[in-house]
Amino acid sequence: MSKMHRRHVLRTALPLAALGALSTLAEVAAAAEPVTRRMPVLFIGHGSPMNAIQDNAFSRFLRGWSAQLPRPKAILVVSAHWLTPGVTAVGVQERPKTIHDFGGFPQPLFDMQYPAPGSPALAREAMAVVKRAKVQPTQEWGLDHGTWTVLHHVYPAADIPVFQLSIDYDKPAAFHHAVGRELAALRDKGVLIVGSGNVVHNLRATDRIEGLSPTASRPWAQAFDDAVKQALATRNDFGLVNYTRLAGDAAATAVQTPDHYYPFLYALGASDAAGEKAVSVFEGFQAGTLSMRCVQFGA
Ligand code: ZN
Repeated sequence: MSKMHRRHVLRTALPLAALGALSTLAEVAAAAEPVTRRMPVLFIGHGSPMNAIQDNAFSRFLRGWSAQLPRPKAILVVSAHWLTPGVTAVGVQERPKTIHDFGGFPQPLFDMQYPAPGSPALAREAMAVVKRAKVQPTQEWGLDHGTWTVLHHVYPAADIPVFQLSIDYDKPAAFHHAVGRELAALRDKGVLIVGSGNVVHNLRATDRIEGLSPTASRPWAQAFDDAVKQALATRNDFGLVNYTRLAGDAAATAVQTPDHYYPFLYALGASDAAGEKAVSVFEGFQAGTLSMRCVQFGA
């Protein structure tokens, strides 16, 4: 008797009680297979590189976050610090290097390493799902501080593969949101998509104050950050993509240059605009002009 035939006989000839047992067996068989659940999407407001070595409300929040998340197979980060005008690139390194892309910080920050492996296979899947641009594989770059200063808190063991996708800085906001939407397919393959930037980021107006604990914000910074929060709560994604009109005059100062805002649009795009809640899991300001707002889309 063939296997197919035997299954047919079982389904039709066994009493209901036996069918119940069969479904239990089927569940056991399914549980034995690697099940990949849809991963959430994160946006992290990363602020100063000093957060990597400081114990503050933000770093403490990051350290507790992974306990709320399913364990990813890999992490794809779109960082504000990898801008590649004219091209979208993806890192396909087996061992991406830790990049210390900043100056004027204490030596312990330069001594830090985040030795997570890369994921060339999933990076190539990212190339396949993005149709809007021809994504270029590269061995250049690695993990910049937009990635490792935060992941070192969220996943301190550095045992989950990480790869970065760059930002084509010649392209408008709608392009970055659309690429994020295409990347969403990777969520079903166990990839945690992370945008790392700041929804409000103005270094010129930064208050020169000691310490990096959340501080009072400038009015225009608070106005824009509040508008983002409100738009997220109602899933006004259109308003968030067209952010220059989101909070009147505030946007021009709050998003003086869009490099730190665009990673947010990748995360927004990768989330499901129709049915997925956007939860602000951390908020507050550093130095008056850096919104540390972090958002989790999906559970
Ligand atoms: Zn930054």
